[in-house]
Amino acid sequence: MDTPQEIKTILEKLRNGGYDGYAVGGCVRDLLMDRKPSDWDVTTNAAPEKLQELFSESFYENNFGTVTVKIDSDDPTLKEVQVTPYRIEGRYSDKRHPDEIKFADKLEDDLSRRDFTVNALALSSEGELTDLFDGQSDIKNKAIRTVGNPEERFGEDALRLLRAVRFAATLDFDIVDDTFIAIKKNAGWLEAISKERIRDELVKIIESDKAYEGVLLLEELGLLKHIVPELREGIGIAQNLHHIYSVWEHNLLALKYAADKKYSLDIRMASLLHDIGKPKTKRGEGRQCTFYGHDVVGARITAQILERLKFPKDFIEKVSKLVRYHLFYYNVGEVTASSVRRLLANVGPENIEDLLKVREADRIGSGVPKAVPYKLRHLKYMIDKVMNDPISVKMLKLNGTELMETIGIAPGPMVGLILSSLLADCLDDPSRNTKEYLAQRAKELIQKTPDEMKRALEVIEEAQQKEEEERMKKYYI
Ligand code: ATP
Ligand code: MG
Repeated sequence: MDTPQEIKTILEKLRNGGYDGYAVGGCVRDLLMDRKPSDWDVTTNAAPEKLQELFSESFYENNFGTVTVKIDSDDPTLKEVQVTPYRIEGRYSDKRHPDEIKFADKLEDDLSRRDFTVNALALSSEGELTDLFDGQSDIKNKAIRTVGNPEERFGEDALRLLRAVRFAATLDFDIVDDTFIAIKKNAGWLEAISKERIRDELVKIIESDKAYEGVLLLEELGLLKHIVPELREGIGIAQNLHHIYSVWEHNLLALKYAADKKYSLDIRMASLLHDIGKPKTKRGEGRQCTFYGHDVVGARITAQILERLKFPKDFIEKVSKLVRYHLFYYNVGEVTASSVRRLLANVGPENIEDLLKVREADRIGSGVPKAVPYKLRHLKYMIDKVMNDPISVKMLKLNGTELMETIGIAPGPMVGLILSSLLADCLDDPSRNTKEYLAQRAKELIQKTPDEMKRALEVIEEAQQKEEEERMKKYYI
């Protein structure tokens, strides 16, 4: 790989203006590893104001002196390049921000403030490398090593504890001894770091090919305790006759399968968390122990974890649903059209494919996968068959407005309750989805009070829950 023309142009423009300019950090590392950089950073001795004069298409909007230069490039990774004046590490009092941002005159200072040797390389427009900390040899040896004293560097910015694991996972490198020891000793410093920054690194670990190894490493280093302690509750929790692994190992192996299949982040996360409810629901010991309700409890814990880590609402909803419904049932001959419709109504038709993938990860991650291709084909056939049946309120032949006209009520909670109740009727029997039937039924339902309606819906829910539990008992899930 070569430095792209877009970057060369920026570096040359800096030089023509009388300044230094280097590509620096992750992009140089990636270039040397023959990987495509995800973004490009440039460092220079020009002040932000000078940079704005030099690059008319640029903006300056943070406290770090970084000026973002806009480029007319077809490559999305080159549309915006961050140009930052040389900086030097100031004093840190809080293990996360320097007390002040200090600019420097020399490239050496800027390189020595960077986290790891492999991230501390600079490349000039002529292709000349500045490598003050043997970053090239660490790249060759696949080694993550801090620039300078590890404990000091982690003490300045504790996020680096987690970044070390992130780079180990994304680059498939090993953390060298002194760096490793310093992380293990000071893992608790991570508590000083904002959940958002932790989340961003965790996402990169889980999205990497080595997601499984990455989470294992988080545990080995004592970092996981400060990120997702709930996962650790599964350590040493033995399962029943259907399993050979502990809950912890099984969750991790499900993630491994999802990563090997290159599934998306939501599926990976749901695979990792799918049995997070098991430690809290385990009853009994040995081959006959049970975990009834671990799906419901697990969905709740999943939402708590993801909320704490400030994941977006849509993501939390989806992953929690995947965990909640991962036990769906698919024995040929026992799975009914109405149960498949209910599953679709619950998880959402748009999520059903991903739910099947989570279940696959669960199955393979159990270490004793049973042969099921036929069962799965049958379920998919059932899904296709009921896909056009009414599985959401939107698909009812009587919409909210028509409902209100028919029974002469104003907008309010009763409208939603009646629609939910009509949907429940149609999930049982889709032939009921006609204007006539629904209008007739709505006239009966309006006789009830909102409390009676709520109760009736709860009864349906409870009956389904009961049915699910019976099945679980039968199969020791
Ligand atoms: P990616 O491939 O994900 O972009 P990267 O190595 O470019 O990885 P970034 O987070 O984009 O990582 O940061 C760019 C560079 O800035 C790093 O390579 C490193 O030199 C420096 N850097 C970033 N964050 C820190 C930090 N917390 N402490 C020290 N140096 C950092
Ligand atoms: Mg980068």
